[in-house]
Amino acid sequence: MPLTFHPRSLSLPKLGMQLDPHRACPFAFVSHGHADHFARHDKILCSVPTGHILRRRYSVAKDRLLLLDWEDQITIDGHHIQLFPAGHITGSAMIRIEHDGESLLYTGDFKTRDSFTAESPVFPQADILAMETTFGLPHFIFPPTEKIHTNILTFAKEGLELGETPIFYAYSLGKAQEVYAILTRAKLPVVLNKSVYEMTQAVRETGINLTEPKLLGEAIPPGTIVIAPPNFGKTPLVKNLKAKRTAMLSGWALTKGAQYRYRVDTLFPLSDHADFPGLLKTVEKVSPKLIYTLHGSTREFATELRARGHDAWSIYGNDQLELFGKEELPKFTEGR
Ligand SMILES: [Zn+2]
Repeated sequence: MPLTFHPRSLSLPKLGMQLDPHRACPFAFVSHGHADHFARHDKILCSVPTGHILRRRYSVAKDRLLLLDWEDQITIDGHHIQLFPAGHITGSAMIRIEHDGESLLYTGDFKTRDSFTAESPVFPQADILAMETTFGLPHFIFPPTEKIHTNILTFAKEGLELGETPIFYAYSLGKAQEVYAILTRAKLPVVLNKSVYEMTQAVRETGINLTEPKLLGEAIPPGTIVIAPPNFGKTPLVKNLKAKRTAMLSGWALTKGAQYRYRVDTLFPLSDHADFPGLLKTVEKVSPKLIYTLHGSTREFATELRARGHDAWSIYGNDQLELFGKEELPKFTEGR
């Protein structure tokens, strides 16, 4: 299946479709609603919940969206196309394209663990796997999800008992709803800043089960937990707040110095990406003949896969590389 790599995104020239391109184009697959996967394309193929989020978040016109239900199939110019849940955030999708008896699975951002706010991931078989490898180094092994949840709840409850305001910094779409679900399922009182509140409503409208959110007003009510994006920490509301404890939720919590870098009291390794064992498990499930890695530790993870007997290559091995399948694929020099 002919695949072309433009700077930072893949495209299928025969289909005239780009995958998560950063620049606006005539026809794109948008895997999910995060800003680094979206641009104002003429036509967007996406999952039904992502379509709703794109409309709410970026005011995308309805007639620009080509919506596909999970595992339904459409055929465009002989390409059979299906979407599968990627488990990253609400609506996040992987796309499987089959053409001339050959199949490609492009993951977008994905996670292998279940969560409260993303659909459970489904990994179909494909001949070619183009996968993200954000946490593609062996030391990225996240603790069990239940343990992370317990630690988050303990942090929040202890803060409230001491008369402090627990503040969780999380990007407004994805992690913010996940920590909101964790806290509200434990019946803890939570207020949301405006952008988190709006995205939480958008996620609820897609059918995800979350309690009715409360919007943060001009003052933080005593005895309440706040969820807000990281830049909220720079507002006078937070700066003038004496009794507070702050936390950030990120897979980068496992990186040395992360706590200092993010300037928070605590970091929880709650990620919406797959960890290293999750990435390996994904390769096993998809059982591809050829693997391309993109985002994060692409070369390191491809090297690891080759050591395990796979035909795996970083997509960034060479600029402007034309990929025409295994036989014609140039082999890259390591470390480039
Ligand atoms: Zn994302």
